[in-house]
Amino acid sequence: MRGAARLGRLLTPHGEVETPVFMPVGTVASVKGVSQDILEDLGVQILLGNTYHLYLRPGVEQVRKLGGLHKFMAWPRAILTDSGGFQVFSLNELRKVTEDGVTFRSHLNGSSHVFTPESAMAAQIGLGADIIMAFDECTEHPADRTRVQQSMELTLRWAARSKKYFEDHKHEVPWANVPSAEAEQQVPRSARNDKSLEGATQSLFGIVQGGMDLALRKESAERTIEIGFPGYAIGGLSVGEARTLTREVVESTIQHLPADKPRYLMGVGTPEEIVEYANLGIDMMDCVLPTRAARHGLLFTSEGKISIKQARYITDEGPLDPKCGCKVCSRYSRAYLRHLYASNEVLAQVLNTVHNLTYYLDLMRTVRHSIALG
Ligand SMILES: [Zn+2]
Repeated sequence: MRGAARLGRLLTPHGEVETPVFMPVGTVASVKGVSQDILEDLGVQILLGNTYHLYLRPGVEQVRKLGGLHKFMAWPRAILTDSGGFQVFSLNELRKVTEDGVTFRSHLNGSSHVFTPESAMAAQIGLGADIIMAFDECTEHPADRTRVQQSMELTLRWAARSKKYFEDHKHEVPWANVPSAEAEQQVPRSARNDKSLEGATQSLFGIVQGGMDLALRKESAERTIEIGFPGYAIGGLSVGEARTLTREVVESTIQHLPADKPRYLMGVGTPEEIVEYANLGIDMMDCVLPTRAARHGLLFTSEGKISIKQARYITDEGPLDPKCGCKVCSRYSRAYLRHLYASNEVLAQVLNTVHNLTYYLDLMRTVRHSIALG
């Protein structure tokens, strides 16, 4: 079945996740514009949180004291955090990379910070997501082969350090030692999980790098597998390369990943792309596109992409997407959504995001259904 679409179930301490799955991005412990009860109603099984942002605000220690991310944000289902590496590379022009780690400045107040594999693991253990990511260097594009190779080697050394720190400290996850009776009392009803968390731990995934070089991708995959992780991500894509190249790298790299472990493609993509990658055998994807586009009035529909700000919708009484069953499409007209957007109403962001997320989640449900039917 290598290289082919497959159905799966990720068993996490906070519930099962059916794959292939699309994970909405909740950057600062919030999917912008949408509350957790709505996310539950939409059928979101797993959310992504960004370690970089949460580390800077409200701070890992603050979240840890409040019981970890699940309890803090009242989200009882699964969470994945990234390692912070990608944000450090994409948001910080003044970053300095050494063997030990990365020095960077906060985009909030300019203060200086250091992420090392060890501190990135400590942060992710403190936040307490179900799935956490090894600290890696996201290689810039374009880059020459020597640079890509050196960067890949650094990521491999950091992967081994990430794993070592994780193995030594994984018992420190905030929800690991909470007796269930106490948890029952402290956790709001909505955030309760029936399953006992005793004995449960986080899963640390490795990340394959190697730029756009297929041979280096293969080597990175093989050597990351040698270190040994319960799941593998393909990182370092969507960094400005052509989409055809992204696809080529994914299709090639996937051949070198074990068939019996989850495969996570980081930071993609458009609706067409997530379907395509699921068909190639990717199990997990995340992207800010549906939520970010929604806030800019760009909506994905069965009839193509719509820019709701356009004047042509001023008197359009029809639903946003006649084929969508979401609460927005079944209740409001394009004319009303256009008015909300033009008036800069907060509700525009909420409704647009609900629809776009529904579109992505429905797409993945359809993909899973098609795979089930063969
Ligand atoms: Zn809809």
